[in-house]
Amino acid sequence: MNSESQPAPAKPSHFIRDIIVADLAAGKNGGRVVTRFPPEPNGYLHIGHAKAICLDFGMAAEFGGRCHLRMDDTNPAKENMEYVESIMTDVRWLGFDWGDHFYFSADYFERMYAVAVDLIKRGKAYVCELTSEQWKEYRGVPTRPGRESPFRNRTPEENLDLFHRMRKGEFEDGTLCLRAKIDMASPNIHLRDPVLYRIMREHHYRTGDAWCIYPMYDFAHPLEDAFEGVTHSLCTLEFEVHRPLYDWVIDQLDVAVRPRQHEFARLNLTYTVMSKRKLLQMVNDGLVSGWDDPRMPTVSGMRRRGYPPEAIRQFCELIGITKYESLTDVALLEHCVRDVLNRTAERRMAVMKPLRVTIENAAELPASVRAVNNPEDPAAGERTIPFGPELFIEHDDFMVDPPPKYFRLGPGRSVRIRYAGFLTCTGYACDASGRVEHITCRWAPSETEMKVKGTIHWVPAGSPAATVRLYDRLFTVEEPDASEERPFQDFINPASLLETTALIEPSLRNAPAGGSYQFERIGYFTADSKDGSPERPVFNRTVTLKDAGAKNAAAKQA
Ligand code: ATP
Ligand code: MG
Repeated sequence: MNSESQPAPAKPSHFIRDIIVADLAAGKNGGRVVTRFPPEPNGYLHIGHAKAICLDFGMAAEFGGRCHLRMDDTNPAKENMEYVESIMTDVRWLGFDWGDHFYFSADYFERMYAVAVDLIKRGKAYVCELTSEQWKEYRGVPTRPGRESPFRNRTPEENLDLFHRMRKGEFEDGTLCLRAKIDMASPNIHLRDPVLYRIMREHHYRTGDAWCIYPMYDFAHPLEDAFEGVTHSLCTLEFEVHRPLYDWVIDQLDVAVRPRQHEFARLNLTYTVMSKRKLLQMVNDGLVSGWDDPRMPTVSGMRRRGYPPEAIRQFCELIGITKYESLTDVALLEHCVRDVLNRTAERRMAVMKPLRVTIENAAELPASVRAVNNPEDPAAGERTIPFGPELFIEHDDFMVDPPPKYFRLGPGRSVRIRYAGFLTCTGYACDASGRVEHITCRWAPSETEMKVKGTIHWVPAGSPAATVRLYDRLFTVEEPDASEERPFQDFINPASLLETTALIEPSLRNAPAGGSYQFERIGYFTADSKDGSPERPVFNRTVTLKDAGAKNAAAKQA
């Protein structure tokens, strides 16, 4: 990327950017912009998180601020260090940097407890003994006010004593809880004396067994933002109804910088499920090979598949930031991947269904030919491909009795072969079943005056074999989790992975893990980061050469 020499194109604005611009103009927060990306380390990041990451880090960078990476780990049951590390790797890979601002919510437990104690002392929180069943009844429904808990008017002394004892472990899980004393008649159900702390004997991956009470998200999150001096707390729309409670918590503090929560619509993608719970289920049920299975919508899956981080950022920029829910076509993401790879991926040749060719005028052949690595990028240079009297071409590029408008090889026909002149077919041989297994040709150099309409790819004799994984969408329907009657697993595409063998150009034998190439006329492929070896390289199909939808539309028109 070269940001020095070219001015960045003007970006289409969105309401979050407008809010920040207005806040800065009004002199809020001393002109500072501090955001945070707060994933819960209970799974790997997915493309939806990438949208939030691009927004959180993007806004901070654009306004000279900073963005914190914070592990939102107040719920010990499902969190662990493997997830923490994967999150750090993924955010860095996407191209963002949190500097020194890496935090764990769990590191604030003592400070959060102190805030709770302060609330109790000021008569703003109480220990409640209603069971959750009873509470449901007391809480009421949005259209009808709730009733006050009989424990609501305990003295601060009594509450303090009970809260200390909750912490010391004197009560059973789920028996007592600490509630904020707000308003049982509020039309917003989240303000009806919400739970701040619950008793839960659960080992925490960071704090071990130090705590048996844990703060609720709605209490913890505003505190974390306030402790860190966050100015703009950006989150998805489902938190909109929680905002009054967020503000209530902030109102209880004495803060120099007042964090504000702003909500935007989450990303939903066609042919994809995105919730971590469902992705974990697919991993646990063996429907995929892991979180980084190249078919997964996870950042690690996309990395392994060969999606460039630049393409993901470009996609996030394109979809924009809005306040309304929508469903984005996954083809748009694939388009971004193609767009970047077309510019950056070197070209190579690979043959998926080989047909052996022998050249009769062997004495005239060069020992090798030169090939351009990337016509879109002169700096990518050239390479040498061995050449000789035996080659392999695609089986489909020869027909004994071709139909009209078939411009490839057939008996007596000529075709251009990429980087290496022309072939004219002089004969063919079939196996016992009648399938063509070998053809003979005469060769002519590139300079020859020949009128041919087709160009085909090839590999030389002795080219290595590689495992090639052809991926298709993981689901057969646009919205796999939209059905009331059927679970999303019912819509898994049984043909989402097809493993086959291809002959690859010799130079691909040592392709670096994660290296992406355009296999000419076939698609974009990336060397797998886990399974390949120089003896047996493994390539994942990153994306087809063209959008299948566009191709079908073109076919219909023709
Ligand atoms: P999921 O529902 O997929 O499990 P989550 O919201 O529970 O995701 P968190 O780890 O809490 O996952 O999310 C961290 C941040 O990423 C939050 O601010 C959340 O709003 C945001 N985020 C999660 N999913 C999406 C999405 N699909 N689009 C945009 N932002 C998202
Ligand atoms: Mg969440």
